Amino acid sequence: TPPVEKYEYQAEVSRLMDLIVNSLYSNKEVFLRELISNASDALDKLRFLSVTDPELLKGGGDLDIRIQSDKDNGIINITDSGIGMTREELVDCLGTIAQSGTSKFLKALKDSKDAGGDNNLIGQFGVGFYSAFLVADRVVVSTKSPKSDKQYIWQGEANASSYTIQEETDPEKILPRGTRLTLYLKRDDKGFAHPERIQKLVKNYSQFVSFPIYTWQEKGYTKEVEVDEDPAESKKDEQDDKTEKKKKTKTVVEKYWDWDLTNETQPIWLRNPKEVTTEDYNEFYKKTFNEYLDPLASSHFTNRGTYDFPLVITKGEVEFRSILYVPAVAPMGKDDMINPKTKNIRLHVKRVFISDDFDGELFPRYLSFVKGVVDSNDLPLNVSREILQESRIVRIMRKRLVRKAFDMILGISMSENREDYEKFWENFGKHLKLGCIEDRENHKRLAPLLRFFSSQSEDVMISLDEYVENMKPEQKDIYYIAADSVTSASNTPFLERLLQKELEVLYLVDPIDEVAITNLKSYKDKNFIDISKEDLDLGDKNEEKEKEIKQEYGQTCDWIKKRLGDKVASVQISNRLSTSPCVLVSGKFGWSANMERLMKAQTV
Ligand code: ADP
Ligand code: MG
Repeated sequence: TPPVEKYEYQAEVSRLMDLIVNSLYSNKEVFLRELISNASDALDKLRFLSVTDPELLKGGGDLDIRIQSDKDNGIINITDSGIGMTREELVDCLGTIAQSGTSKFLKALKDSKDAGGDNNLIGQFGVGFYSAFLVADRVVVSTKSPKSDKQYIWQGEANASSYTIQEETDPEKILPRGTRLTLYLKRDDKGFAHPERIQKLVKNYSQFVSFPIYTWQEKGYTKEVEVDEDPAESKKDEQDDKTEKKKKTKTVVEKYWDWDLTNETQPIWLRNPKEVTTEDYNEFYKKTFNEYLDPLASSHFTNRGTYDFPLVITKGEVEFRSILYVPAVAPMGKDDMINPKTKNIRLHVKRVFISDDFDGELFPRYLSFVKGVVDSNDLPLNVSREILQESRIVRIMRKRLVRKAFDMILGISMSENREDYEKFWENFGKHLKLGCIEDRENHKRLAPLLRFFSSQSEDVMISLDEYVENMKPEQKDIYYIAADSVTSASNTPFLERLLQKELEVLYLVDPIDEVAITNLKSYKDKNFIDISKEDLDLGDKNEEKEKEIKQEYGQTCDWIKKRLGDKVASVQISNRLSTSPCVLVSGKFGWSANMERLMKAQTV
């Protein structure tokens, strides 16, 4: 028999093992997710390399993951037909910590130890292969790499500072390719070897691993078997009916064990959009987000990147897939504009569901109503909020996602059915206005989506494009008046001259409207002009006449100013009125009357 060689763990690994083995971490089941994701990675690597070297796949069977468990003895076998490991790789991969996620974990752990310690870090960061020791006190890894003609066994125990490696010689255990992990569970954790438990965990954690995961399950089928009859009974039968000899049967359940395909290998976002129907998208939406209404719109897309293996971004692009949805209604009861913890975006990494807690990292607050799934190949499996916040990849993803969300909303606005967008606007218009304030970079995308009532459309809201189309040839600016309702807007004396000239005026009747518009400043090179401010220039100055009038009424103005004193800044002759004798206006640089109302409301 070949020799058994003993190796010492790298110091960090020992420390990590010690922590894992002795931790009181309660969510031990993450071990399965970590080990399956390693198996999936190994299959991914093989699949990738086989593109240029098809020989690699020869004689190794299908690319899959098989989990067989023995609940009586507390043993779990996880076998993949992936890339495997050579002897050197076993030492490098399972004896040292190369992995950035795990070293980050150690650092975070050290920081939190200083601050009192936190067991939840294991789940947050993921401890990779070593998570096997959360539940097992002995782990055996038998593995064969296509680079080597030998298969090796790695063995480690929970409370040891060393591990062993030896050659596999048992012909029954020789794999064509890949890796088999055998976990000998701790006494208290033997329950994890229950096939039904395994099945449930696989369904929960790895529903979207793109390789089939089979679990070894007890199955049964019913069959009819003939039964011996009571002789007296049958004699009686014979006498009754001599020609037809009836046989009695009984239904029994025949039990057997077989592989059960436990995961759905083709998640909907990986399918070709041409082959997915609107009903499919809607079903997925309703199932995933517990909605009962169909969404208003959906968008399915792939962002393609260019890579060198192993996943080095070469052209500043990132690959991910996503399906986004606009819900039909805004969530009731809670103000999710202010509270963006909406769990609306489900993040997957390599098909493995990671979290629905990262909405804020993937979308700006004002788009928090958008729901969907995002699946990236470029993020680490143990991705945390900190990683997301620092990641350049995430910044690119965020940009693309936002752009796609805008395209989707624009799509609704261009629907033949005007009601669709009216519905959208009613539910989420406020969000877009908030966007005008918070997201300068996307003003160009936001502005065409805004809707307002106007002096020429008091019942149906119009877009800025419709306003611009309706502008007079000599008109340079977009006029608006802010008020608390359409009625009060349409009754303001400021409108008189503009109505007379048939100039359209937008009515900003939602308190946030005016702030949004002042943030936009202009649309298609046309400035937004508040018609209640002094200095309103309608391009119709008659200087001769103005001079005349100023001379005639100058003293009247002075007299009024004297009487009003500090209550007004100045009293001026104006050409903006046609029927009202006078109007109170705000200064060019002052708050508009509406803003002042808003400010007052806020300080109360
Ligand atoms: P990570 O997966 O983040 O690299 P792990 O601790 O989970 O960290 O695994 C360490 C390394 O061990 C992997 O990078 C891989 O090289 C190797 N490894 C683990 N499991 C397998 C497997 N089933 N097949 C091949 N290699 C594996
Ligand atoms: Mg891993």
